Amino acid sequence: MGLGNTILSIEGLKVHFDTMDGTSRVLDDVELSVGEGEVVGLVGETGCGKSVTAKTILRSLPVPPGRIIDGEILFLGNNLLELSREEGHQVMSKKMSYIPQDPMTSLNPVFTVGEEMGDLIRWHGRRRVGPLEFMGLRRRHDNSLAKAVELLDRVKIPASREIIKRYPVELSGGMRQRVLIAMALIGHPSLLIADEPTTALDVTIQKGILELIEEKVKEEELSVLYITHNLGVARRLCDRIYVMYAGTIAETAKTEDLLDNPRHPYTSGLISSIPKLTGDEFKGIDGRIPDYIDPPSGCRFHPRCPEVMEICKQEKPELVKVGGGRLVACHLFSTRGES
Ligand code: SF4
Repeated sequence: MGLGNTILSIEGLKVHFDTMDGTSRVLDDVELSVGEGEVVGLVGETGCGKSVTAKTILRSLPVPPGRIIDGEILFLGNNLLELSREEGHQVMSKKMSYIPQDPMTSLNPVFTVGEEMGDLIRWHGRRRVGPLEFMGLRRRHDNSLAKAVELLDRVKIPASREIIKRYPVELSGGMRQRVLIAMALIGHPSLLIADEPTTALDVTIQKGILELIEEKVKEEELSVLYITHNLGVARRLCDRIYVMYAGTIAETAKTEDLLDNPRHPYTSGLISSIPKLTGDEFKGIDGRIPDYIDPPSGCRFHPRCPEVMEICKQEKPELVKVGGGRLVACHLFSTRGES
């Protein structure tokens, strides 16, 4: 997959949530970029802030309780955080698309596949419409159902003319996920954000969905931000990976470099946490993601880090270049001054 200009760039993104117990400081200076035609993985444990990052990009963060404190999200030259909700919706709905995590709860159970896809096809790229305009659009005779069938064919759903008459509950998990991928392709997006789209599927179905995503990425020349906690999936799909820990970026590198030769202690811990089929011991990482209301000082990973030093408890490590396009946020590298 070729890498071109940057299509998405995030700088210094801080997102907090107001809760009954205090301010939860979830994202802390997140930096991330996706190049044209690049598939970028965002990996980390559950609760590390991956989905909050995706929701913030998509402007679907619930506000309140969420608050964007600082940062910028540049997408095709527009800072999404400076646009009104309406303007942001216009930019994103034409060029950005999303595959959600749970195919069952992401499809409306009271509409057939054809009704839901038809609405999306009619509505795509329009400004927000009121209920009367929406009903008018729905009654209008158009070719949206034919387009829905064509999209289902593109994601290799057999008997697509029959499937559009079915309700989501009548479809298998893999079939529902294919429907969601078809919906994500409406309007030929430039950037696809996929939030753990295979997590709810068993491994054989997962394989088929991964092959489909790989194929569509090539065919449609998509750039992808692929969120997953599964390093095997990330190795298969991604050109480059960001490792996220407790709302911060720990490390980024080309996929093989990162997985074969991790530099950040958290990346090493994540890789050592993968259970082996041989039954050999796997180490894992002691402890858990910290409380975001009172996160650890300095490096957020320090209470769990086997290589912790005194400076780690006091100073937050910055992302520094360590060669080969790799960035690492760890005092082991900033104090050694590697470049
Ligand atoms: Fe561990 Fe310190 Fe590096 Fe954090 S900065 S990962 S605590 S060595």
